[in-house]
Amino acid sequence: MNKTVNPNELTSDDDYGPLYAARKKVYPQSVSGTFRRIKWGLMAFCLGVYYFLPFVRWNRGLGAPSQAVLIDLPNSRFYFFFIELWPQEVYYFTGLLIIAAVALFLMNSIGGRIWCGYLCPQTVWTDLFYAVERLIEGDRRERMKKDKSSDPMKLERISEIVLKHSIWLLIAWWTGGAWVLYFNDAPTLVKELVTFQAPMIAYIWIGMLTATTYVLAGYMREQVCTYMCPWPRIQAALTDEWALNVTYRYDRGEKRTSVKKAAELRALGEQVGDCVDCYQCVAVCPTGIDIRNGPQLECIQCGLCIDACDNVMTKIGRPTRLIGYDNDINIHRRQEGKPPIYRIVRPRTVVYSAIIAAVGGIMLYTLATRSLLDVNVLHDRNPIAVKLSDGSIRNAYTVRLLNKSGYDRVIAIDAQGPVNSTIHVIGVDSVTPERPMIVVPRDSTSELRLLVTAPAESNPEKSIPVRFHVTDIGLGEVASTTDNFVSP
Ligand code: SF4
Ligand code: SF4
Repeated sequence: MNKTVNPNELTSDDDYGPLYAARKKVYPQSVSGTFRRIKWGLMAFCLGVYYFLPFVRWNRGLGAPSQAVLIDLPNSRFYFFFIELWPQEVYYFTGLLIIAAVALFLMNSIGGRIWCGYLCPQTVWTDLFYAVERLIEGDRRERMKKDKSSDPMKLERISEIVLKHSIWLLIAWWTGGAWVLYFNDAPTLVKELVTFQAPMIAYIWIGMLTATTYVLAGYMREQVCTYMCPWPRIQAALTDEWALNVTYRYDRGEKRTSVKKAAELRALGEQVGDCVDCYQCVAVCPTGIDIRNGPQLECIQCGLCIDACDNVMTKIGRPTRLIGYDNDINIHRRQEGKPPIYRIVRPRTVVYSAIIAAVGGIMLYTLATRSLLDVNVLHDRNPIAVKLSDGSIRNAYTVRLLNKSGYDRVIAIDAQGPVNSTIHVIGVDSVTPERPMIVVPRDSTSELRLLVTAPAESNPEKSIPVRFHVTDIGLGEVASTTDNFVSP
């Protein structure tokens, strides 16, 4: 007889793990070597740029901001050394974003998560916080011992903890403080901040960034990379078999044997792996993983395990780079007795490089040929046209003149539309009525109401284009735009 099965009986609570795995604290050990030196160098460069760039001065002439990099929100300007961008030129930021995204793809296709391991702010600040922690509390073993100790807190330990958190908070505060300096003249804002005369928004931003830096770099650390950041997932979908990733060369490392046993077996002519199972690669890993288990989402590819293993290999007299930047193709080639091959130049790296070069080239070209005089015209919507008592037709426009130069300019306005039409700028009585002129102050915009009137005999029956020209009568620089002249 068939027995009816209750679906609930098919599983038990033991079949499922907990929905949330408690964090295992990671105690990365310090290490020295090539990749550690690269990381120190890049950390010093990134932090140096971030903290000190707002203090770099750039002479833009009298009355203009003298800060090399400044996001001037009240005046809607962005200054980057010799470049000054206006809100109308937001497409440069689009270009920058495209270059940044494609550069990330390019890095990924060449050397895996180079961004994550060396340049990501989370990595840089976490590394800095670890350095402070090591300096005050000691290296891996010491820190583990101190954390496990059940002794009542001694004064020495309490002072260590207080000192560590104070320095962390100081770094976090400086990080938030540096951020607001990009939005105002840095030396002035520093004075205002210390005398409590800075705008409230500056203190709010500093507070928020102090808190996020302290929490993300001091406490969350590798959890940000593993659980919060979307890039590892996206990166995994963008990679290919030729991308170089931090790889344990298991063809060389396995079978793992102790140093002593390996020497004995080699003396007997037996084949043994180079990995001596010392766990140094695991001890230095900031995400606490074992790279010998193969590619893992948690691996930020910082290369520190390469340094750790190289140090071990050097000590035991074996060739270095048992762990190194490589791919599975080469592991298989070596197993087949073939030499490894590396393909940096391949369709995807060529396409990414071409996109970066093309977008960068267009941006440079447009910057080099950028006009310092511009005009925008907006046709009145309501009414779109007016018939006057003498039969002539009048259209009204809002004209915006942009003087991006560092000096005042006298600008003449012309409009080529219906035959014999006249133009008039409201509020401007020009000595040459057919060609109104106005002064546009340096680094500013002027908005005008402009009327184009077509006499009765030349009334257009349908919409015809009107070409507006604005001319700097001193330098002869011209800017133009087109709109329409319509009949009611
Ligand atoms: S550091 Fe090298 S030798 Fe030591 S366990 Fe890791 S891979 Fe093996
Ligand atoms: S496995 Fe190696 S490369 Fe990956 S995160 Fe750990 S130390 Fe860095």
